Amino acid sequence: MTDFREFELSRRVQQAIDDMGFEEPSPIQAACIPAVLRGVDVIGQAQTGTGKTAAFGIPIVEAATPDMTVQALVITPTRELAIQVAGEFRKIGKYKRVRTLPIYGGQSIVHQIRGLQQGVQVVIGTPGRIMDHLRRGTLKLHNLKTIVLDEADEMLDMGFIEDIEAILKETPSDRQTLLFSATFTSDIKRLALRYMKSPEHLTVNRGEVTVPLTDQVYYKVLERTKLESLCRIIDSEEISLGIIFCRTKRGVDELAEALISRGYLVDALHGDLSQAQRDRVMKRFRTNDIELLIATDVAARGIDVENVTHVINYDIPQDPESYVHRIGRTGRAGKRGLAITLVTPREFKLLKQIERETHAKMDGRDVPSLEDVAERQAEIWRSRIVDAIQEGGLGQYRAMLGDVIDEHDPIDVACAALKLASANDTQAFEQADYDFGDTGATPGMVRFFVNIGRSARLSPSDLVRVIAEEAGVPGQTIGKIDIFDRFTFIEVEKESAPFVYEALRQSRINGSRVNLEPAKPRTRSR
Ligand code: ADP
Ligand code: MG
Repeated sequence: MTDFREFELSRRVQQAIDDMGFEEPSPIQAACIPAVLRGVDVIGQAQTGTGKTAAFGIPIVEAATPDMTVQALVITPTRELAIQVAGEFRKIGKYKRVRTLPIYGGQSIVHQIRGLQQGVQVVIGTPGRIMDHLRRGTLKLHNLKTIVLDEADEMLDMGFIEDIEAILKETPSDRQTLLFSATFTSDIKRLALRYMKSPEHLTVNRGEVTVPLTDQVYYKVLERTKLESLCRIIDSEEISLGIIFCRTKRGVDELAEALISRGYLVDALHGDLSQAQRDRVMKRFRTNDIELLIATDVAARGIDVENVTHVINYDIPQDPESYVHRIGRTGRAGKRGLAITLVTPREFKLLKQIERETHAKMDGRDVPSLEDVAERQAEIWRSRIVDAIQEGGLGQYRAMLGDVIDEHDPIDVACAALKLASANDTQAFEQADYDFGDTGATPGMVRFFVNIGRSARLSPSDLVRVIAEEAGVPGQTIGKIDIFDRFTFIEVEKESAPFVYEALRQSRINGSRVNLEPAKPRTRSR
C-alpha cells in the first residue's frame, strides 16, 4: 500500500492533494506517478474512473517551473473532458499557482487567445482547437516538456489520429510523451511505436481476488441525482448496520451532512479524525446509535464490526481489490450481507470490469420509484409499531397523550402520530436526465442515430445483445429499431438512455466502429 507521501512531492502539491480529500493513490496512480516524475515516456492503461487524470496531473504540476510558457499540453477527446481535466489541474496546482487553460471548440477563440497571451504553464485542449491555435501561432510549443494523450483510445476512435500526429510534430523532439487509455488497441500500439521513446507500459495488476459470500447488486444512477437515489435505496432496504463508501474525505463529509439534514442516523469516518474522534464514532456505530457509517477506504480498513448488514458503494471503488475489501465488511459470521453499488453511466464499464475480475454476479436493479419506496416504508412502519406494542413500556406516552384520547378518535390519533413520525421519510424527486433534446422519439423514449446499418451486417438482435451487455439495459426497454443500409435508428426508454449513450457512443459492433448519437427530430424516418 502506498501513500502519496512516498512520492516526496513538494509541500504545496501535497497540501493540495490533501485538500482534495485523496487519502491514498489509486493503483494506476501508484504505478504511474513515480515513472512520470522520472521523466520517462509512459503508457498508463486503466479503466474509466480509476484516477488517470491525477496520475499525470500530479507529476506535471510537481515538475512545473515558474516560467510562464506552455510546459505541458494535454489533448483530450471532448470539450467536457478538457474542462474536467483543467478543473483537476487547477485543484492540484492551487498552492503552487500553476496556470492552466482549457481550449476547445464552441468557446470564443478570442477569449482563449487572450488567456494564452497572458502566459499559461499547462494547456488542455481538444485536437481541433489545438490545431487551430497552432495555425494562428497563438499556441507556442517550443518550450514544451510534456505532452499527454488522454483517453487515447477514444480520440483514435473519433478519428483524431491526423490531428494528433500533426500536433506531435509541432513539439520538441526531446519532450516526454504520456499516453493514457482504458484499452490498448493496435492503433494505440502503432502510435506509441512511432512517437514514444521506449515507453513504460503500466497497467494495474490483476491479482486473483476472492469474493466473500455476499449478495451483490448495482443500481444505475445519474451523478446529479445520486443523493436522492441513495436516499430511496436506503429507504427501501431494512438496514440495521451499514457502511457507505465514498471516494474522498471531502465526499464523506458532504454526504454525512446531507444525510444528517435529511434525518438519517449517520456519522462520518475518515483519515482526518483524531484517534479520540474515531473511537467515539466507532462506539456510536457499535452500540447502534447510528445506523450508517460513511467512510473512505482507508478509514474503513482498520475497523472491525460484526453484523454489518449492508455495504453501499456510493462511489464505485477504483479497482477490483478495493471492491472486494469493501464488501468483505458485510456478511460475516455466517450471515449473508448485501453489497450495493451505485453506478453512473460513465462508470458502467468499470463495474463490468470489476464483475469480470472478481467473477462476481451482480444483479442490476432500478432505483425504486416513489411508490415502491412508500410501500416499503409503510411495511417497515407497520412492523415497527407492532414491535413497539410488544415491547411495552408505553405508559409514559399514554400520559403524554392526556385528554387527546378522550376528545378524538383513537384511530385518528394513531394516524396523526404516524404522520409526524414519518414526515421525513420520503422526498419526491424528479430523476433528472442527460438532456438529449428533441430526438423525434415516441414519448418516454430517446431516439439514437447509429452510423452503421445493413451494409455492416448489423441486425436488430446484434444491437439488442450489445446494449444488454455493454449498458446493462434489457431488451424490453428498447423500442423501435429501424435499420437502413448505412445507418440505424433505435429508440430506448428515457431512463436507460444515458447508459446506452455512454456505452455505445464510441464502440464496436461485429468489428465495425460504431458512433451513436442522439437523433435529430427532422431526420425522423416515417
Ligand atoms: P479516469 O480518467 O481514469 O476515468 P478520473 O481521473 O476522471 O478517472 O478520476 C475519477 C474520479 O476519482 C475523480 O472524481 C477523481 O477526483 C477521483 N480520484 C482520483 N484519484 C483519487 C484518489 N487517489 N483518491 C480518491 N479519489 C480519487
Ligand atoms: Mg480520464
